[in-house]
Amino acid sequence: MPNFHILTLFPEMVMQGLHTSILGRAVKSGTISIEAVNIRDYTTNKHGRVDDYTYGGGAGMLMQAQPVYDAYRSVVSRMEQKDDKNIKTRVIYTTPQGKIFCQEMAQELAGEEELIFLCGHYEGIDERVLQEIVTDEISIGDYVLTGGELPAMVMVDAIARLVPGVLHNEESAGTESFADGLLEYPQYSRPEIWHDRQVPQILLSGDHAKVDAWRLEQALIRTKERRPDLYEKYRKAHQAVEGKLTI
Ligand code: SAM
Repeated sequence: MPNFHILTLFPEMVMQGLHTSILGRAVKSGTISIEAVNIRDYTTNKHGRVDDYTYGGGAGMLMQAQPVYDAYRSVVSRMEQKDDKNIKTRVIYTTPQGKIFCQEMAQELAGEEELIFLCGHYEGIDERVLQEIVTDEISIGDYVLTGGELPAMVMVDAIARLVPGVLHNEESAGTESFADGLLEYPQYSRPEIWHDRQVPQILLSGDHAKVDAWRLEQALIRTKERRPDLYEKYRKAHQAVEGKLTI
């Protein structure tokens, strides 16, 4: 079961967002745990400062190494006390300079026991502490946000919902977009006709084999139209196994 530890200057933002709905329920039931650690609590600066000017000049302030390192150590030493074997923990720095987050990474991280997320703010964090503690640098996309809190929340959400027991219906994670390399097929619920739009007849047929075939076809069409990059990858992988793909 992954324990998520988020090192941040804005713990309330992270906790509020991640303790609601499905993840809130999973925390309550003990399937996962999520804690936010306030980096400011660890500064040795008597005015509570955690940032300073950058050497070499330039606009903006930088988070200093000391409070970040001590906040990290507080989490690791708690882990060591709990479990005296050598704890291996991934430390993920959320940064626009990292590898772009994807479903495959979420799946891989869902198998870890302890995950520490480090959220930067202002101009980022002193490089020396990053070199010392960070194992993975991950971005949520090619744009710059004001802080790492939203990226950490995005990643924790995507990872946590892949942990067995977090979603009530285990099926849904397996058939969703990206699970098999395709976008998901279109879905419909009651009523059968809404604003003159009819649910595709095949979904009302009760023939599961036909429904599955229709869904795969729709997933292929949708992926080809919307994400030709994904479609090409899928096509290459499946051609090797199944011969020609018709869509
Ligand atoms: N000066 C940094 C740069 O140019 O790479 C950007 C700093 S940004 C204003 C402040 C913090 O927000 C970063 O340290 C990082 O933690 C977070 N952040 C911003 N954009 C992000 C993204 N696309 N993915 C992940 N984290 C991001």
